[in-house]
Amino acid sequence: MTQKEIKLVKEGDINQPMRVLLVTDEQDLKTLRKKSKNIRNEEIKDNPDLQYFIQRLTRTLDEEMGVGIAAPQVGVNVNLFLFVRLDKPDYPVQVAINPKITGHSKEMICFEDDGCLSIPDFSGNSKRWTWVDVEYRNEKGELIKERLEGYSRKDNFTGIIFQHEFDHLQGVLFTDKLCD
Ligand SMILES: [Zn+2]
Repeated sequence: MTQKEIKLVKEGDINQPMRVLLVTDEQDLKTLRKKSKNIRNEEIKDNPDLQYFIQRLTRTLDEEMGVGIAAPQVGVNVNLFLFVRLDKPDYPVQVAINPKITGHSKEMICFEDDGCLSIPDFSGNSKRWTWVDVEYRNEKGELIKERLEGYSRKDNFTGIIFQHEFDHLQGVLFTDKLCD
């Protein structure tokens, strides 16, 4: 994180949600469109600023009642997001740092009613893979490799959440991926 980003994170209490940036604000949109930067692996585990940020981002996701949130959505352009594990019991929140998509299905589907905390009052169908092979580090710095499946709104769409949040780190929004 840059000094400016650390300052933003530390402005509030550790359990205080952060302000979610919106596409309707010109300055916010610039941050949302920026490509985020990797966090060095050795700076994950014993980095109090990063752990503070993860805690505040988790509180923000909870407050907004979302299924995922990416760091740039609160003004921090680092490669980190949270996604809710709809594929696991009790739906734990997973931290993904420096994520990669290493493989994906051949087929694409139109995921119905995609939405975003940064895009108020709009939903649409987005083009997504049915599954993705992913790699990322958790908040302890441990490397996780797995296949994420699920694109059913009624049941499990964990693979879709990962794709949506991953796009945020590239400055891509779901409105760029709408089905024809
Ligand atoms: Zn979003």
